[in-house]
Amino acid sequence: MDRNPEAREDWISMVRRRGASRSTFQEEVLATVLCVLYPDPVGGYPPAYARDTVPTLPELYPDSEQTLPTPSEIPFTPGSLLGCVSGELGLRRFLEERGHTLIVTSDKEGPDSEFDRHLPEADVVISQPFWPAYLSAERIAQAPNLKLALTAGIGSDHVDLDAAMKAGITVAEVTYSNSISVAEHAAMTILNLVRNFVPSHQYATDGGWNIADCVERSYDLEGFDVGIVAAGRIGRALAKRLKPFDVNLHYFDTHRLPEETEQELGLTFHESVQDLVRNVDVVSIHSPLVPATYHLFDRELIDTMRRGSYIINTARAEIVVRDDVVAALESGQLAGYGGDVWYPQPAPADHPWRSMPNQAMTPHISGTSLSAQTRYAAGTIEVLEDFFAERTPRQEYLIVDGGALAGTGAASYSTDGKASPGSSGR
Ligand code: NAD
Repeated sequence: MDRNPEAREDWISMVRRRGASRSTFQEEVLATVLCVLYPDPVGGYPPAYARDTVPTLPELYPDSEQTLPTPSEIPFTPGSLLGCVSGELGLRRFLEERGHTLIVTSDKEGPDSEFDRHLPEADVVISQPFWPAYLSAERIAQAPNLKLALTAGIGSDHVDLDAAMKAGITVAEVTYSNSISVAEHAAMTILNLVRNFVPSHQYATDGGWNIADCVERSYDLEGFDVGIVAAGRIGRALAKRLKPFDVNLHYFDTHRLPEETEQELGLTFHESVQDLVRNVDVVSIHSPLVPATYHLFDRELIDTMRRGSYIINTARAEIVVRDDVVAALESGQLAGYGGDVWYPQPAPADHPWRSMPNQAMTPHISGTSLSAQTRYAAGTIEVLEDFFAERTPRQEYLIVDGGALAGTGAASYSTDGKASPGSSGR
């Protein structure tokens, strides 16, 4: 893990500069930490990387008062592949030096999975939305020791939050750690679809020069009406990135932004998602998956959109109805659909989104760039240090605490008084 000690020193001194006051704790309780991570690259854990390090970012996240993670130490090399099984989120030495037990697996499906086998002994479960360990009510019932369900990343809808509240489990995530990563991916996907990049790239790769085939579906984004569903951290970062393209920006959110933010970003507010979608050419979805957004984009809503609209979804797959998206692409009602979120994850080989026309789908990768991994692995350590020292983690990291929605969870997950059910099955 320690192939780039200089980069690690940089990060450590940055953390110290930021005044991280946490000292190495003398914990009394030894914990079993069960970590579910995505499998290693098929060619094995990378011996080297495309770049030597990741940039050191400013102390605060953009347009916010929130500092980047401030653990007492960074026990991994920033910019290394931490989110896969061999990367272990950089936790092995950190935990074992303190006497804790770390179990890492990617085997998470079915009652005989390693995840299910180890659940009864786990005090802490950590997983990432890209390879989610679905913590349903049934699984929570099998985990009598479980005290903390931690998302290394953002989005805790893979946890049944009601069941977690009843069981007194704290649910936390590393808020903001990958918001910019996702906003960049959404901006990229919008341009990809509107400019018809993927098929054009394929012509080039295949030895062709089919200009007309490439451009018969290619437009400039300039002048388009672009609608953002939910102007939270990601939605606002996307607006900021799209503004220089001279588009007309619109949004809907259950919480309207301050007037000065609307003016600064050039955003027009719509009172409902229904009103938003019929007035735009591109819709980018950035709301959490909650009962109010579950299957929000169904055939009925998509049919009210302008013919040839594009939908980009980097939020959660179940905000749209899978087969209604396929039908709308096939009929031409949608000119394109793109994003990185699927249900379930990993998606089966025959998932229709793999073969539907005019799609720019990737696996769930937008929030797990090497840059993002560095931040959310550091945030994971920060939350674990607080947990072991019996301190409440930062409010912005909390989703559920003390039997109720808390912190960010109270702001983002409570719009209709209900919480996330942890996976489909509604
Ligand atoms: P955030 O908490 O900053 O913003 C969420 C926004 O959604 C808030 O402004 C809230 O008011 C709004 N909202 C809540 N319910 C709504 C509703 N019913 N209709 C419209 N707006 C509603 O969250 P964020 O960091 O911007 O992340 C947004 C979502 O993106 C996460 O919940 C997660 O599901 C997803 N995400 C995906 C990835 C990825 O890798 N693809 C990574 C991070 C987050």
